[in-house]
Amino acid sequence: MRVLVIGAGLSGLAAACHLLGDGHEVTVLEREDQVGGRAGVLLQDGYTFDTGPVVMTMPDLLARTVAAAGSNLADLLTLERLDPGYRTVHSDGTELRVRADMADLRAEIAAVCGPSQAAGFDAFLGWLETLHETEFAPFIDTNYNSLLDLLAQPRAAARLLRLGAFGTLDGAVRRFFTDPRLHKVFSFQALYAGVSPRQARALLAVIAYMDTVRGVWFPRGGMHAIPRALAEAVTRAGGMIALEQSVTGLERDAGGAVRGVRLADGSALSADAVVCTLDLPVAYERLLRDLTPPRTATRGAYSPSCVVWHVGVRGALRPEVAHHNIHFGADWNGAFTALIRDRRLMPDPSRLVTIPSLSDATLAPAQGHSLYVLEPVPHLDADLDWRDEGPRMRDRLLGFLDTSGYPSDIVTEHLVTPLDWAASGLARGTPFALAHTFRQSGPLRPSNVDRRVPGLVFAGSGTQPGVGIPMVLVSGRLAAQRVAEYAVRRTSRAVPV
Ligand SMILES: Cc1cc2nc3c(=O)[nH]c(=O)nc-3n(C[C@H](O)[C@H](O)[C@H](O)COP(=O)(O)OP(=O)(O)OC[C@H]3O[C@@H](n4cnc5c(N)ncnc54)[C@H](O)[C@@H]3O)c2cc1C
Repeated sequence: MRVLVIGAGLSGLAAACHLLGDGHEVTVLEREDQVGGRAGVLLQDGYTFDTGPVVMTMPDLLARTVAAAGSNLADLLTLERLDPGYRTVHSDGTELRVRADMADLRAEIAAVCGPSQAAGFDAFLGWLETLHETEFAPFIDTNYNSLLDLLAQPRAAARLLRLGAFGTLDGAVRRFFTDPRLHKVFSFQALYAGVSPRQARALLAVIAYMDTVRGVWFPRGGMHAIPRALAEAVTRAGGMIALEQSVTGLERDAGGAVRGVRLADGSALSADAVVCTLDLPVAYERLLRDLTPPRTATRGAYSPSCVVWHVGVRGALRPEVAHHNIHFGADWNGAFTALIRDRRLMPDPSRLVTIPSLSDATLAPAQGHSLYVLEPVPHLDADLDWRDEGPRMRDRLLGFLDTSGYPSDIVTEHLVTPLDWAASGLARGTPFALAHTFRQSGPLRPSNVDRRVPGLVFAGSGTQPGVGIPMVLVSGRLAAQRVAEYAVRRTSRAVPV
């Protein structure tokens, strides 16, 4: 079949790899002049800044994706496992490094938090491994047609129940550790999914498995090398990537089935199937105006957003500084209440400082570093005017860099606020899509197909399975599987038996 993919973000490129592997003729249409979408790059005054994801986990999913298109990941990308994966800095001044080797991490926990916590870590590791093994293939890496599909895996569901996976994440982590620093280290990942550890189901501990156990990785050349590698796999397999091609509408036949797309220059392209990776509610708003979007997409709870301050600095780093540095605020629960319930800035913010030039010196001039400073903030439903708040936030972040011991001799800078995320086409001004509350996860998250539009398939963080690099790569595979099912249905209709 001839398949058009709208969007050359990670999900669109992943879908293209799998579609090519299935033998389809594939063209990816991208609005911007570069691939990557949210995984973009900014080159400014000799500094290279990754503008989106910085924590890369589960490289095997990336390898699986390019392998589907006949490529070998090692030929396209050089990945390094970071050690430590994270340096965590706590409000009492202590530091704990999430070491790459589990024996080293155990020793670090014993040294910083005491031997009883290290014993808890042994049990926690075993639990995480079993959780991931039980959850990933049957519940994440799968297409759902209805809620009833959950019943198709009764053994796995019963096992998850026994593991306490439907209790809260906070409760699960507390079963293994009494030290509040470890509660943070092993449950902050809930924020990636837009929920607080007290609200999140323990199912989300699978994210801690992905970064702690399977490791945090960094590609040579920066994170943007990931979409470039995927794009290379697509073109090597015979796929086309057309940049600066904005899709403005879908062509549909009388029965509603998709027949192609319309482009901003007024031209049209025909297709047998279309994979759409626009943020899901925005896809309905812009391309499917005649259809009511799924209720969750319009009325659902959205993840908090973030401010990212890209700073090119001059000066040396202190020896303890790592590639990823998480600075936890003291009032942990208060931070989530502010961000999620009250839609306010965190009174005592937790922040991420990522320094890619520490791992790849080509990303900053000599004697300089490129810093990525991220603070989670409420999405645009909050009563905050970012035109005023942006400059104030920038000054607070500068003060934070200074007091936390980072070089703050600024050569160049660029601040990104929720207004910028909204302008790039992300609902509620958040790059993290619908929150992964229980009611917005698995089969309860908006489906990747809409029965009213046969031949149209969604991929990306607004649909199943969800947000983040591993999940959107999976969503690309699931989209290709939907196209394959559609191809079979079309063929069986065309050739009656
Ligand atoms: C600041 C930030 C930090 C993050 N941190 C992490 C992290 O550390 N680890 C992690 O795993 N994940 C992280 N994420 C999340 C991760 O980046 C996203 O989940 C993922 O990149 C989304 O990919 P996507 O393909 O769904 O969407 P996108 O990347 O948004 O791709 C959609 C594409 O469609 C294009 N497009 C839109 N409209 C049209 C149109 N009309 N016509 C043609 N093309 C169009 C867009 O230009 C874009 O290229 C982060 C994201 C951000 C922004």
